[in-house]
Amino acid sequence: MILPDPPRLFHQLYERYGPQHWWPAQTMTEMMVGAILVQNTAWTQASKAVGQLACRGLLDFAVLHATPDEELWETIRPAGYFRIKTRRLKALAAFMVSQGPMAQVIHAGNQQLRQQLLSVYGIGKETADSIVCYAAGQPVFVVDAYTKRLFMRLGWVDGSGDYDTMQRMVHATMPADSGQLGEFHALIVRNAKEHCLKRPRCSGCPVASCIEQQKD
Ligand code: SF4
Repeated sequence: MILPDPPRLFHQLYERYGPQHWWPAQTMTEMMVGAILVQNTAWTQASKAVGQLACRGLLDFAVLHATPDEELWETIRPAGYFRIKTRRLKALAAFMVSQGPMAQVIHAGNQQLRQQLLSVYGIGKETADSIVCYAAGQPVFVVDAYTKRLFMRLGWVDGSGDYDTMQRMVHATMPADSGQLGEFHALIVRNAKEHCLKRPRCSGCPVASCIEQQKD
């Protein structure tokens, strides 16, 4: 196993791609709704559904909570799995409405907020951490399939590398800064789309340490 060096990886990616301006949302509600809609689908499709919700005035948890399922099915259809995602949006909306003012919920400590979100139907670790990082601005690193692919190719984890192990690896070495941790996740996604695809395009990839290891 290679000694993990997340700060070096972050700098390599940042030098190449610069800031990614995540999460692409105007409000915390929009961000949280987007985090549900992007599950198992491309952002281009999820963002169409977010746009349709906005056009119909549904980017509000109280309104969302009161909207009939059938109307939501039609509105979020571009994001796919629209029945399941409607149920998940309704669960998130019910949670948010039950908790009182948005600011109060969002500014709870990150561990408390994370645990609460994980108890909501349809919210797993990746979605919960996305909300904690990008909506609440708390220092949490989001792990996804692209992260695992990259960390495996870097030799930092093997096939059994789990979510918590990869997250701890980053938390142990990077500053507890939500801006930087959020940027890191966004940069990993960017590189996964440009170079570290299922079939990697290593030529021109900024992750020099990975290339060096492949030569060893
Ligand atoms: S060098 Fe290749 S395997 Fe390594 S991160 Fe880049 S594309 Fe992926």
